[in-house]
Amino acid sequence: MKIIMLGAPGAGKGTQAKMIADKYQIPHISTGDIFRANIKNGTELGKEAKTYMDKGLLVPDELTVKILLDRVAQADCANGYVLDGFPRTIPQAEVLDKALNELGDKIDYAINVDVPDENIINRMSGRRACLSCGATYHLVHIPPKTEGVCDTCGQALVLRDDDKPETVKNRLNVYHEQTQPLIEFYTAKGVLKTVDGTRDMKDVFASIVAILG
Ligand code: ADP
Ligand code: AMP
Repeated sequence: MKIIMLGAPGAGKGTQAKMIADKYQIPHISTGDIFRANIKNGTELGKEAKTYMDKGLLVPDELTVKILLDRVAQADCANGYVLDGFPRTIPQAEVLDKALNELGDKIDYAINVDVPDENIINRMSGRRACLSCGATYHLVHIPPKTEGVCDTCGQALVLRDDDKPETVKNRLNVYHEQTQPLIEFYTAKGVLKTVDGTRDMKDVFASIVAILG
């Protein structure tokens, strides 16, 4: 099963993608996590990506597409995957579509996690991330067992640089301009499913499971 998560930054794509990956035993692939791992390791890719990410801008398609296509070509993706944060532009979606087409394959579901802009700022300012294992928490809605510490790996939790309110506003603008058109793109392909992302994470997940079967 090949699944794409769509939605504004902070809509809960990552939270739901991890639960999907767990239940359906497919890899969770987040281009944002791949960039953050590169930043942490001080690679050239990380240095370049950071200049865009810190401003709330998208990393250029040329860089992003290559990373994603390399990742989905790996053996663990043979039975499918859930993409979180990719595609974010129409050209990215077209490249993915073409690559899958050449293999006689296609995306099965594009799940649009719908959350209005008003809720997003709160979600993002309360998000705490583990840069070691990629786990995500929320100070109020989904707190870790011990304040400031990752439940999964015990590392310190941080407020991401790009989750500061001034950057979040930019990211929302970029979302509306560059990413939202994908809703139409996947509707036209007959694979778009929208879920109400404002509800409790367990209820959102139940709606997704009802779609995926
Ligand atoms: P995205 O991957 O779309 O950027 P995340 O999954 O990281 O978003 O979620 C953004 C923030 O909102 C995180 O702090 C997360 O813990 C929290 N969150 C996710 N889903 C819900 C939900 N259904 N209700 C409340 N908070 C949520
Ligand atoms: P995320 O973790 O998905 O919220 O992504 C964090 C940031 O990484 C984004 O704001 C972008 O700067 C960058 N990024 C992640 N995925 C992509 C993508 N598919 N295309 C371009 N930039 C991306």
